[in-house]
Amino acid sequence: MFKKLEGKIALITGGSRGIGAAIAKRLAADGANVAITYTKGADAAASVVKEIERAGGRAIAIQADAADADASKAAVEKTVAAFGRLDVLVNNAGTAIPKSFEETTLKELDRLIDVNVRGTMVATQAALKHMKNGGRIIMIGSSVGERVGVPGLVPYSATKGAVKMFTQGLSREVGSRGITVNNVQPGPIDTDLNPAKGDWAVPQKAATALDRYGQVDEVAALVAFVAGPESSYITGANLTVDGGMNA
Ligand code: NDP
Repeated sequence: MFKKLEGKIALITGGSRGIGAAIAKRLAADGANVAITYTKGADAAASVVKEIERAGGRAIAIQADAADADASKAAVEKTVAAFGRLDVLVNNAGTAIPKSFEETTLKELDRLIDVNVRGTMVATQAALKHMKNGGRIIMIGSSVGERVGVPGLVPYSATKGAVKMFTQGLSREVGSRGITVNNVQPGPIDTDLNPAKGDWAVPQKAATALDRYGQVDEVAALVAFVAGPESSYITGANLTVDGGMNA
């Protein structure tokens, strides 16, 4: 059976758990060979690779903290060395530190900016060196990159707003090369970072039109579409998958 990402090579940053793991498995199911990065979770990363291999796909895991520019560049080079090229980059690695802005330390601010913004830019620069016509750069931003309905996410939402404008600006520079750049913006998705159970989840669930958290596969489905051939005329777009949170 024809798979729409057959022969494509994809790198997903932060692919050992949560949304990134679901994206890796979905792109592999659609025929791509995938590389994932992680920081601490070597076992979790290895189990994503095994699951993809058991299903007949090819995958590798690379330790690379998105805040470490050399490691991020090396992850791109290792992907190309393993699979021969790079067609799709998914900048998924990201972190949130929910707390009041005034209590946020300089170290925490640096970490948010380094992982969510600087890491995304560095990996993208490295990937563009290898990308050809038809290439796909996909950010995992956030619905709070456009509208923030709750307190406690001030610097996080600012980083995701930066990711949004990075997407829009970059689409203007690489469009002539046939490369698209899009920003997938999840709302509340049940992961270790934002569990659907607990006090923090109550106002988020209530703010959605569908009155529920989203599942990682619902984000992965949109990413697979944006990575595939049918999204060829979509670029510079912010595509929100948030159960209507920003409606
Ligand atoms: P999780 O914390 O559940 O998973 C994060 C994944 O990324 C893990 O595989 C982790 O691996 C890896 N990771 C974390 N930090 C780094 C880093 N510095 N460098 C490389 N890899 C890293 O997060 P989610 O799946 O919930 O979030 C994924 C993305 O989606 C983030 O960008 C987040 O901001 C965004 N998002 C999430 C939402 C949600 O509600 N869950 C809503 C909107 C956006 P390891 O364990 O080895 O560190």
